[in-house]
Amino acid sequence: SVIIQTEDISRVYRMGSETIHALKSVSITINRGEYVAFMGPSGSGKSTLMNIVGCLDTPSGGQYILNGKDVSNMTDNELAEIRNKEIGFVFQTFNLLPRSTSLDNVSLPLIYAGYSKRVRDEKAMQALESVGLGPRAKHKPNELSGGQRQRVAIARALVNDPSIMLADEPTGNLDTKTSYEIMELFENLHAKGNTIIMVTHEEDIAKYAHRIVRLRDGLIESDEINTEVIRHS
Ligand code: ADP
Ligand code: ADP
Repeated sequence: SVIIQTEDISRVYRMGSETIHALKSVSITINRGEYVAFMGPSGSGKSTLMNIVGCLDTPSGGQYILNGKDVSNMTDNELAEIRNKEIGFVFQTFNLLPRSTSLDNVSLPLIYAGYSKRVRDEKAMQALESVGLGPRAKHKPNELSGGQRQRVAIARALVNDPSIMLADEPTGNLDTKTSYEIMELFENLHAKGNTIIMVTHEEDIAKYAHRIVRLRDGLIESDEINTEVIRHS
């Protein structure tokens, strides 16, 4: 079933007298369970598209339907609500609370959902175990490696059972070997049915996705099924 549908979306930034057409016309349909990479050089519109798909921003024109809802013209508060429910974010810089344990970092999104502390801890523990970090539940970020920190961030993104995991340059701060481990984890999450969208400018990382959408100058240059998904094990 369709989870994301953008219809001719555009995004214009105005800076003084200058007008920047960051996205010109982007139409894309993504089904539940797909694993897609948004690729493209710097300035091609990846962040702009990701911000719209992730409900951090709305398009200047066109329509965006997320999980059956038209979110194109929502207010910031409405968008925030949709975001909490539908999207799990993973960032290049992990964005973990430095003084909180893995368990507390992962359980954070559940506070807004109104669960009791006991249920939050249970769900957070399950999410940590699903990324292989159960034994690190009581550790703080500075007691973890980069790859482990990113696993905590991935567990946090998934703990609310979002419709989509949106990962912005998820390996940007990791060495090559650790990057491949995170890509193996993504493959496992994909195999379990998670919908994954990954934004990257790295060809080697995009190759792990099952579909590669290439942007250039605010337009889709190509949109292809990846027939040679890399697997390490
Ligand atoms: P990418 O993520 O592929 O590097 P971006 O979506 O960040 O591309 O940027 C696309 C174009 O829009 C670039 O020309 C960029 O400078 C411009 N742009 C992005 N965000 C803003 C903004 N907030 N204000 C003005 N221009 C922006
Ligand atoms: P990356 O491609 O690594 O994600 P970018 O440099 O494209 O980083 O963008 C980082 C953030 O800065 C984005 O959220 C984007 O909207 C904003 N941005 C990019 N270009 C500009 C710009 N020219 N003016 C203002 N903000 C911008």
